[in-house]
Amino acid sequence: MAKQDYYEILGVPRDASQEEIKKAYRRLAREYHPDVNKEPGAEERFKDINEAYRVLSDPDTRSQYDQFGHAAFENGGFGGQGFGGFGDFGFGGFEDLGDIFADMFFGGSSARQQRRPRKGADIRISLTIEFEEAAFGVERTLEIPRTEICSHCHGNQAEPGTPLKTCPDCKGSGQVRSVQRTPFGQIQTSRTCSRCAGEGKIYEKACKVCNGSGRVRATRKINVKIPAGVDDGQIVRLGGQGEAGSHGGPYGDLLVVVSVKPHEVFTRQGNDIICDVPISIVQAALGDEIDVPTLEGDVKMRIPEGTQSGKVFRLRGKGISDVRGFGRGDQLVRVRVVTPTKLNSKQKQILREFAKAGGDSLPNETKGFFDKVKDAWR
Ligand SMILES: [Zn+2]
Ligand SMILES: [Zn+2]
Repeated sequence: MAKQDYYEILGVPRDASQEEIKKAYRRLAREYHPDVNKEPGAEERFKDINEAYRVLSDPDTRSQYDQFGHAAFENGGFGGQGFGGFGDFGFGGFEDLGDIFADMFFGGSSARQQRRPRKGADIRISLTIEFEEAAFGVERTLEIPRTEICSHCHGNQAEPGTPLKTCPDCKGSGQVRSVQRTPFGQIQTSRTCSRCAGEGKIYEKACKVCNGSGRVRATRKINVKIPAGVDDGQIVRLGGQGEAGSHGGPYGDLLVVVSVKPHEVFTRQGNDIICDVPISIVQAALGDEIDVPTLEGDVKMRIPEGTQSGKVFRLRGKGISDVRGFGRGDQLVRVRVVTPTKLNSKQKQILREFAKAGGDSLPNETKGFFDKVKDAWR
């Protein structure tokens, strides 16, 4: 079954602002939440609403979706990597939902939990590739410095085998209260405990690998498949290859912003490529078979007799593969008739004879053009 459009699911126009998207999502999530709505199909609908919101609420994934549709998030479509896939997407971390229900039941208080799992930050890098690599796809190994969960203590901060104890500063709550005296009276505030960073527990013996931070800096070699047909400025998203999350949250994503070097011969227009090929006056007048460069080497192309400068010939299927897999573009060959400049006296003589032989210095259609100009002046 075809997947429903994310904008339709949320009932917003394609140019909806982030604020409108959020509003629509909140309204629908309240309506269809399985705890509230027991109607058949409500749970499915609720999942769809969440998926749509996840994609459209993030400017990066939204732009992926606008460009590639659902294909942007299907694994396998681009060599199993997921062009813009979001790894642990789904019912995993309901950060936004947590907010919604906090808003619903606590009247919009900012009762954010410090220890809630948070997804790590995305890493954005730029990658410059050749025109041909964009056309046919390429694989690159990138070295990405990032923060990772310490593999020795698995992020627990304590040396494995040693116990954790309740934080004495906050008594395990992760929050410490303080009372401030102000001109308006006493104000009680609570903040995250600095001793345990809100964890409520501290270690007795720090992990010897990460010194008790639970995370390490590492440079990871990541293999990136750039799909054939990628265009300048497009982003390839690798789910889960970003920075480590906190409090058990998932890794962020790696966003590879592709920039494509211009080509000496070809320019790109959508999935078509355009090139200019010079031909001589004689070739244009009499016709010829010429060699034309393509992305896959030279091909023969027939120039018919009487070809005008600027005439465009189409070589079907010699363009760039559609990044979504919808076929392949064409190559447009624009011929430029080159007027000779350094003629020797014999060549000039022949051309004068050529003009005389025709009985006229200009072909008929060009003469017609001058007649029109004269008419316009009358
Ligand atoms: Zn460690
Ligand atoms: Zn504490």
